[in-house]
Amino acid sequence: ARGLTKVYRMGEVEVHALRGVDLDLYRGEFVVLLGPSGSGKSTLLNILGGLDVPTAGEVWYEGHHLSGADERELTLFRREHVGFVFQFYNLIPSLTARENVAIVTDLAEGAMSPEEALARVDLADRMDHFPAQLSGGQQQRVAIARAIAKRPAVLLCDEPTGALDSATGVRVLEALERVNAELGTTTVVITHNADIARMAHRVLYLGDGRIVRESRPEQRIPARELRW
Ligand code: ATP
Ligand code: MG
Repeated sequence: ARGLTKVYRMGEVEVHALRGVDLDLYRGEFVVLLGPSGSGKSTLLNILGGLDVPTAGEVWYEGHHLSGADERELTLFRREHVGFVFQFYNLIPSLTARENVAIVTDLAEGAMSPEEALARVDLADRMDHFPAQLSGGQQQRVAIARAIAKRPAVLLCDEPTGALDSATGVRVLEALERVNAELGTTTVVITHNADIARMAHRVLYLGDGRIVRESRPEQRIPARELRW
């Protein structure tokens, strides 16, 4: 991404959510994006994933210029290359874990089976459970299985542990760590929690619409050793 700016206009009021973000994401990286509330984290993630468009600046994906794309091309880009995980899991309550994932795998060519996707997030024994029969952390792992089933190159996660307690959140992070290691999925995780940054290859700090700092932990801490 180069020179990303995003201005929201609400009548007379202008909100400058991004003020010139330059960013390179490398294949296979696990990146954590930290920053205070309102600093532009979700705006940045949505633009990187083609859910939103910048006011100015450019997004490139493997040589393709996304910011010039129309809505149809952006939809194709998202469908083929990007998985999203949000704070709330958005599972369909009347479908089992397997069926929630199958919605995606039935549509996408080259997708893994729902069974494989669920096994990769350690839910092989919960395939036939409905969301209401699963804990919050298990529901989030179903959402991760759904997001990775089509083998996206990039997984974008907006506060995936935001609704979970520490022990449950750790299981979700372990699932993300495993997907990143086993499938090589380039992963970006937004969090308010600086402890989570310790499991990243690289940490970006956003402040007031700009990347104000970047760091690379000398030693990555495995997710299972995190506590907060
Ligand atoms: P949080 O940690 O609270 O989720 P964030 O870092 O994700 O915050 P953003 O959601 O990207 O922050 O918002 C950045 C700024 O843009 C905020 O000031 C917010 O009020 C504003 N904003 C975000 N989305 C919109 C929108 N759709 N319309 C108008 N303003 C918006
Ligand atoms: Mg946000």
